[in-house]
Amino acid sequence: MGREQDDMLRRGIGMTSQRTRERLIQRLYEEGISNAKVLEVIRRTPRHLFVDEALAHRAYEDTALPIGNNQTISQPYMVARMSELLLEAGPLDKVMEIGTGSGYQTAVLSQLVERVFSVERIKVLQDRAKERLVELNLRNVVFRWGDGWEGWPALAPYNGIIVTAVATDVPQALLDQLAPGGRLVIPVGAGEVQQLMLIIREEQGFSRRVLGNVRFVPLLNGPLA
Ligand code: SAH
Repeated sequence: MGREQDDMLRRGIGMTSQRTRERLIQRLYEEGISNAKVLEVIRRTPRHLFVDEALAHRAYEDTALPIGNNQTISQPYMVARMSELLLEAGPLDKVMEIGTGSGYQTAVLSQLVERVFSVERIKVLQDRAKERLVELNLRNVVFRWGDGWEGWPALAPYNGIIVTAVATDVPQALLDQLAPGGRLVIPVGAGEVQQLMLIIREEQGFSRRVLGNVRFVPLLNGPLA
């Protein structure tokens, strides 16, 4: 392919994604996402850079897509909904994310909170996510290669924790690493029955809210090179 043609194609894709991005935002709004900041960040975050080139044309559909290693980039609605739940009571400074994956949710979060601490068990996914965030000049993120069941105790406590894979039970370590008033957004369940939960560390104990059925890949055990 000649260089001019290549450029033209690039611009073409650019234009399409501009329109399809607007459509995605409209759809998220209609589906009940009401936090204007969240919508704005999703509008300006180039999701097509977080998937394989071959899938880039589908990046602004409201759907999960494969990212290799049997994992998926989360559905935009879920990214928006979980971000909105985290931020519901006001701005947050320290947020831990379990399941970096493509880094898309990480990128969205990094534009909504002061600092993001992101844990991923699959090294190659983490490396790619890191590169993307540097490319986008999102610098308030640190990454840990490790097991999300353990969280990141050395840097605890966190004002918010978001888990982007489904856990059979709420990991005790994550509860322990929540600051007072801190919020944990996590899908919980086994098999087909999974529910999104919001858990808040109250003055005494924890409050729990169940927010409906969801579908995530499982939170597995141990790091993987
Ligand atoms: N938010 C990501 C979603 C990725 S899918 C995105 O939008 O791209 C879930 C991710 O959780 C996968 O990358 C998977 O490797 C990771 N994961 C699963 N179990 C884990 C664990 N115990 N610790 C850390 N990460 C885990």
